[in-house]
Amino acid sequence: MAFSANRSNVSGGSPRSATVRLERASSLTSNTSPTHPRSKAIPSATSPGRRPSRNGRDDSGVSGRVRVAVRLRPRNSEELKSDDVADYIELMPELKRLKLRKNNWDFETFQFDEILNETASQKRVYEVVAKPVVESVLEGYNGTVMAYGQTGTGKTFTLGKLGEDDAADRGIMVRAMEDILANASAEQDSVSVSYLQLYLETVQDLLAPEKDNLTISEDPRTGDVSLPGATCVEVRHPKSFLELLEAGEANRIAANTKMNTESSRSHALLLVNVKKSVKAKQEKESTASNENGSSLQLSKSHSLMTIRKSKLLIVDLAGSERVDKSGSEGHLLEEAKFINLSLTALGKCINALAENSPHVPIRDSKLTRLLRDSFGGTARTSLVITIGPSSQHRAETMSTILFGQRAMKVENMVKLREEFDYKSLCRKLEADLDRLIAENERQNKLVLDTEEQLQKRAEEAELTIQQAERKAKVLLEESHAKKLKLQKENLDSIRRLQQECSLLEKELKENAVKLQSEKEAAVVEKEMQIQNERAKKQQEKEEYIEEYQHKLEELNKKFEAERAERESIERRLQEIEDCMEGQNKLELDDQENLNELAKKMEEESHSRERATRELGEWKLQGAFIASNEEIEEQCKQKEVLEKEVKDLKQQMLQLSYDTDETRKVLEKGPTRVSLGAESPMSLSKAHHMRETVNGQRATIAKLFEQVGLHKILSLLESEDVDVRVHAVKVVANLAAEESNQEKIVESGGIVSLLRLLDSSQDDIIRRVAAGAIANLAMTETNQELIMAQNGTRLLVRTANETDDPQTLRMVAGAIANLCGNEKLQARLREDGGIIALLGMARSRHPDVLAQIARGIANFAKCESRAARGQKREKSLLIEDGALPWIVENATNEISAVRRHIELALCHLAQHEVNAVDLIAAGALWELVRISKECSREDIRILATKNITSSSSFQSELKKL
Ligand code: ADP
Ligand code: MG
Repeated sequence: MAFSANRSNVSGGSPRSATVRLERASSLTSNTSPTHPRSKAIPSATSPGRRPSRNGRDDSGVSGRVRVAVRLRPRNSEELKSDDVADYIELMPELKRLKLRKNNWDFETFQFDEILNETASQKRVYEVVAKPVVESVLEGYNGTVMAYGQTGTGKTFTLGKLGEDDAADRGIMVRAMEDILANASAEQDSVSVSYLQLYLETVQDLLAPEKDNLTISEDPRTGDVSLPGATCVEVRHPKSFLELLEAGEANRIAANTKMNTESSRSHALLLVNVKKSVKAKQEKESTASNENGSSLQLSKSHSLMTIRKSKLLIVDLAGSERVDKSGSEGHLLEEAKFINLSLTALGKCINALAENSPHVPIRDSKLTRLLRDSFGGTARTSLVITIGPSSQHRAETMSTILFGQRAMKVENMVKLREEFDYKSLCRKLEADLDRLIAENERQNKLVLDTEEQLQKRAEEAELTIQQAERKAKVLLEESHAKKLKLQKENLDSIRRLQQECSLLEKELKENAVKLQSEKEAAVVEKEMQIQNERAKKQQEKEEYIEEYQHKLEELNKKFEAERAERESIERRLQEIEDCMEGQNKLELDDQENLNELAKKMEEESHSRERATRELGEWKLQGAFIASNEEIEEQCKQKEVLEKEVKDLKQQMLQLSYDTDETRKVLEKGPTRVSLGAESPMSLSKAHHMRETVNGQRATIAKLFEQVGLHKILSLLESEDVDVRVHAVKVVANLAAEESNQEKIVESGGIVSLLRLLDSSQDDIIRRVAAGAIANLAMTETNQELIMAQNGTRLLVRTANETDDPQTLRMVAGAIANLCGNEKLQARLREDGGIIALLGMARSRHPDVLAQIARGIANFAKCESRAARGQKREKSLLIEDGALPWIVENATNEISAVRRHIELALCHLAQHEVNAVDLIAAGALWELVRISKECSREDIRILATKNITSSSSFQSELKKL
């Protein structure tokens, strides 16, 4: 037990009153008074700092001083009648002070927790004195409300007034019960009441008058005081409580005294037991401790229920007046003695507690034993001291006030009466356990069912495996049988193949024998054939020899005649030479023609000499005898030859004349070999020249008619260079005439000319031969023939070997003509035609350049034509690097060159595939120029069209 005392209160008459510190507490239970530094506010039940006590006990209680209020009774009718003016007492409720007159000139001032004057209503008294205690009880604390005072000052009025007539008169007991019942749950909580009387140190049960001596029991461990024998009635409604009180009241022994007939001489005790269930704060894993301190883990699903068991004790004490003043006698005196014994013991205890004395004489009386928890215990205690207004009772009033002052110093340690509701917890745990057991059973059943199902499935699987094994066995057997069958078939087929092989081998051998015999027969036949052929050839040989001997004779005669003829021709030639000598500036070509004839004659004479020699040889051998008829024939031949010679003479004359004429023409302008339709001849002189040349050609034509083309062509192979030169010139002239070309070609002219070009190193021969080839290369057939005879390669070689501009002109002309054949373009290029053509540009001779340009234009035109309507490759001209030359010469001052190149550019530009290269080489700008400046309108239009239709050209032009 903790004891404490408040010594700072004002004590009666003490000069220390000047230092009194005024308490401003609004109620008797306020623990926040600054005059009580040790006191602390009573924590509310819901305060978070509160910790539940073990078994409802908390050793660390909160200090709570006993609160004391003073109530002054209004004057009763008697007092009102008397003149006794109660001026000995002065109440100052607002200051919570009370002044008591000591004598005529001095007052004693007392400070209380509350001063209630005569007008204070019952309701106010309840709220100030009892309500805080009642609330505290509802929160789980023990509480005591007690009235102390002289008999007739209104203790019973304050506490026990039932208020049947006037509800406003209801006393603390009724109001407290009303509040408790209003705040208790009918289902969970319980409120029970015992009503007792302590009279002459005997405890009587007012609810059961037969229990007239109840024993007070104290728990030795906790110190709790109880009355085990007392009747405890559960109260649910205020009305039933009133009935209980009435019944109890009827049992109370009341004795009249002189002072007040209504005053009770016994102590009345109303004991209210409140049991409330409170849901403790739920924690994740809350732990509760049982009495032995062992821990019990509670499942999360349980909320801890705690039970708060608190007691409210309302004590209506008997009067505190002195015995001698009460006027009691006999039994009454005894009563007074006992009554005052209890009160004296109470006063002693309170003094001891107030003075913090080590010994508190609790056990001196039953009252102090019953109030053990109320003063210096764990209860919240509120004391109301009642005083009367009559000055006659001044001494008792003073004694009462001093009792109150001492009681104010008693400090209690209020403790929460809380314990776990183990029963409900147990019930819940049992319910949980049952639920878990049921769940466990269900799970067990589920496991058993699952096991059963698995077992069933395993059996099924076993069955399936067995079936599968049987099937596999059957399949294995079947496959084994199939394998055996296949092996047998295999062996059979091998055997059959071997038989077929041996048959084939046999057949082969037979065939070989047969072939051998056939071969032998063929050899025999061939030998016979060879022998026959040999005999036939022998015969032919003999016939030929015979014929040849005959011819020789003829020739002999013919030579004789020709010798004479030759002599005459020589004479004639001499004459011509003489004639020619006079002409100093004879043109070379015509001189050569004349020489050619002279040479021819010479050659004839040589061949005649050779024939004569051969004839002589034959004669010597005696293998040849000419007949008379043959001689006659020879004579005829001779005549013919003589005629030929005569004609030749005439031709020579004509030729001389022509030569003269030609020379005159040449003096006026250069002669050029005609090279097809586009011969680069000066137009101003063309007409006259053409006439002259035509005359010359006519003469040559006549010559070749009379001499024979074969003969002239055979002269191309003459060993004599001069003869070859003359012959080739004649052939070239003939070839210039379109009418002769077919005959020349038919007589093998192309082959002869190519052979000449191939074999000769002479520039004149090469030039003239190339010219002739160029002229022949005008028709498609001839072009093909030239190509077939490797003509291009020969022309290319010639182009590479010579630097003679005229030769190059002819070669370029020939290649240019070949360029005009679509079918031969690839071959021409393959044979190096384009590169050779470009290579000849080194000569820089205008005629050569013109031919090159013509060739390139021809090639481009044919490419363009061949590609029409089909996707094509890049131009072969571009592939062979012709573009730079083309661009360079696009503005050549020679109009022939320029025009051909402009045409070539237009042809190349027609195809988008060439566009990139054309742009790169700068040809686009030439095309633009052509489209604007070209003198020929058709070329301008073509160039414009090419530029506009090419997307590449357009995008290149947009870049600017
Ligand atoms: P006690 O119990 O102290 O002996 P009682 O309660 O019996 O005194 O009161 C004595 C008389 O005074 C009663 O008749 C009671 O009605 C009356 N009385 C006491 N206090 C008051 C009060 N405050 N107002 C009116 N009458 C009162
Ligand atoms: Mg009374």
